[in-house]
Amino acid sequence: MELLRGTIDEIKRNIQGYPATVHYAIKANYAPEILTTIAATGLGADLVNGYELQAALDAGFKPSQLAFSGVGKTDWEIKAGLDHDIFCFNVESFPELQNISDIATACGKVANVAIRVNPNINAHTHRYVTTGVAENKFGINLNLLDNIVDMALRLPGIHLRGLHFHIGSQIMTMRPYKLLCGRINELQDHFNAKGIFFEMINAGGGLGVDYDNPDEHPIADFKSFFDVFKANLKLREGQQLHFEFGRSVVAQCGTLLSRVLYVKDNGNKQFVILDAGMTDLIRPALYQSHHQIQNLTSKSERWQNYDVVGPVCESSDVFGRDEQLPVTTRGDLIAIRSAGAYGESMSSRYNMRPLPHHQLI
Ligand SMILES: *Cc1c(COP(=O)(O)O)cnc(C)c1O
Repeated sequence: MELLRGTIDEIKRNIQGYPATVHYAIKANYAPEILTTIAATGLGADLVNGYELQAALDAGFKPSQLAFSGVGKTDWEIKAGLDHDIFCFNVESFPELQNISDIATACGKVANVAIRVNPNINAHTHRYVTTGVAENKFGINLNLLDNIVDMALRLPGIHLRGLHFHIGSQIMTMRPYKLLCGRINELQDHFNAKGIFFEMINAGGGLGVDYDNPDEHPIADFKSFFDVFKANLKLREGQQLHFEFGRSVVAQCGTLLSRVLYVKDNGNKQFVILDAGMTDLIRPALYQSHHQIQNLTSKSERWQNYDVVGPVCESSDVFGRDEQLPVTTRGDLIAIRSAGAYGESMSSRYNMRPLPHHQLI
């Protein structure tokens, strides 16, 4: 929890004097204690459905700080957002925009909306976490943007506040963000020339963390991130810039702890078989990602290569191949680091396994 607060302090330090508002993306980690801690720091929240909306309200986020994203908002979720007068719906399609307007009109409200733009920028991250190129399901393609902005300005139940972007996740270089700034500048110029001005721009999240060296880099490089926007993005007079960080807020704050069930020697390979598996942390199986693995018990001076695997009945249930660990034996405690984001929140009950539980320190 100390690192979590330190991380949020670092974010706040970097936006001092800059017209930026930061939302925490709840899907990264929605443990109630984490949410209340983040809400208490004054950050807003980014949600992707009505369940997260309720969790955000329960944790103390103010409705005026809630941005609601997602390609598949249902009617009851839209209604809930309207009932609470949330800050903004990030709209991802024409029929969604129409539906929000219809529902808002029916209950005598006007919905605050940002259009999620697919800026066609490759974030150069894993293809499962790239969201801002034309082939992705997210956002409105550039060639359709004029049409949807016109529609938003026409519809009675819609108040168009701005444009929203989110180009991907675990982005480790600043180049995609620089390109994003350029794209936002072009779009603002384009719309301003037509007499259309936006109250706010939402640049999304996606800032990466150092999974290989969590101890050297416990806090993501927020300074470089914000410097790119400060240097490249031309905000209009009075315009507010929003961000939505998930991973970079919580990833380094969590560790998956596991026991070694068996060390299995199959002749040419040694396997460390853990009691934790892909149901507790699916990132390695889903995105071929790697987390640092440490043996907290072994005092051995001898190091050895192991494949570190879980007990789940899938060949992809592997945390690391050819991991260098001190000689490891049954019962050792293993730490899988940087598991605070998209770990517990993506856990499942496959194989009827119980969900992981968390302990706060
Ligand atoms: C998931 C998500 C985020 C957060 O992404 P991170 O990579 O965890 O920072 C931000 N905005 C939207 C719309 C999202 O779907």
